[in-house]
Amino acid sequence: MLEWGGLLPIRLARRASPVTIDLYSDTQTRPTPGMREAMARAEVGDEQSDSDPTTRALCERVAALLGQEDGVFMPSGTMCNLVSILVQTQAGDEIVVDDQSHIYNTEAAGSAAIGGVSVKALPTPAGLYTPEAFRAAIREPARTAPRTALVSVEQTTSFSGGSVWALPDMRAIRDIAHAHGLKAHIDGARLLNAVAATGIPAADYAAGFDSVWLDLSKGLGCPVGAVLCGSKRFVVEAWRWKYRLGGAMRQSGVLAAAGLYALDHHVVQLATDNANLHALHRGIADVPGLGFEGNAGHSNILCFSVEALGVDAAAFAAACLAEDVRVRAIGAHQIRATTHLDVDRAGIERAADVIRAVAETFHDRAAS
Ligand SMILES: *Cc1c(COP(=O)(O)O)cnc(C)c1O
Repeated sequence: MLEWGGLLPIRLARRASPVTIDLYSDTQTRPTPGMREAMARAEVGDEQSDSDPTTRALCERVAALLGQEDGVFMPSGTMCNLVSILVQTQAGDEIVVDDQSHIYNTEAAGSAAIGGVSVKALPTPAGLYTPEAFRAAIREPARTAPRTALVSVEQTTSFSGGSVWALPDMRAIRDIAHAHGLKAHIDGARLLNAVAATGIPAADYAAGFDSVWLDLSKGLGCPVGAVLCGSKRFVVEAWRWKYRLGGAMRQSGVLAAAGLYALDHHVVQLATDNANLHALHRGIADVPGLGFEGNAGHSNILCFSVEALGVDAAAFAAACLAEDVRVRAIGAHQIRATTHLDVDRAGIERAADVIRAVAETFHDRAAS
């Protein structure tokens, strides 16, 4: 049996004072004074009966941004993924994702536990599988086989270094899915970081997909929330599951106001986050012992290996934290750093210096 403490999901090292340069995740953003003011001023109603005006406005705004018919406000991105799967599959079905995906690794197997759905995880070191690999993963209809029912594309990839999917690949996957009677889903937690990286409008990425969502609590800097979009019919069904799972709210306008504020003021920041990530990557690309994937540094996430230093990721992260820079150990030897609005360029430069110094210390120790 695991001890209770063994179930703690995220090992954020405990510290008395806040970390100055926190690259653990873009979820570490704090609501700005302007956002808090917008929240305080929000007009509110009852979300559960769809009569909270601010929440309604946010849903319509995100649906328009994504070129979808309608949207529904959700407490989290995890619930957006789960509800999308629950609406568009039946127990005994199978879904196709990449093996680094959030759905597969960090949603407590909700699709299996609640939806009775099995997951086929395509092997993809960078989180990007090919349309051909997806086509090959679709099962032939047979009495004995699970029915392949849905495919998910994570734009951008979270645990494989913020890789940005190419639009033609996404379209090919969508079309293969539809040709086989499957639904096509976008986990768009950081879709707007892809938009910032490529200039391709969000609606172009989302076009023709059956479900797609944005997270408000990542780079957009909101305290809570996500918006799930699709056809009117999809949203009606999504609402039933949201309610059933306990996700219906009351005066959610205070939260939705943060989302509207972020869409007005923080989208431009995502390009800065991507540029800061490139600066971080440039700053440490030549450090001996750090290993980068070929596609590293697409957007606001950078993953690198410290294996060649003979150190495990947790020890590397702890050494950085001692210098007031928090990065995340995401595997035995993988480190992830994520840029966001609460770390400016000077912070990034300091982070690069710290990562370099820590790596050099371990390098020297390994050599001696
Ligand atoms: C963060 C994240 C989620 C889950 O969103 P929460 O709001 O944290 O529940 C899902 N998918 C990806 C790719 C993410 O990065």
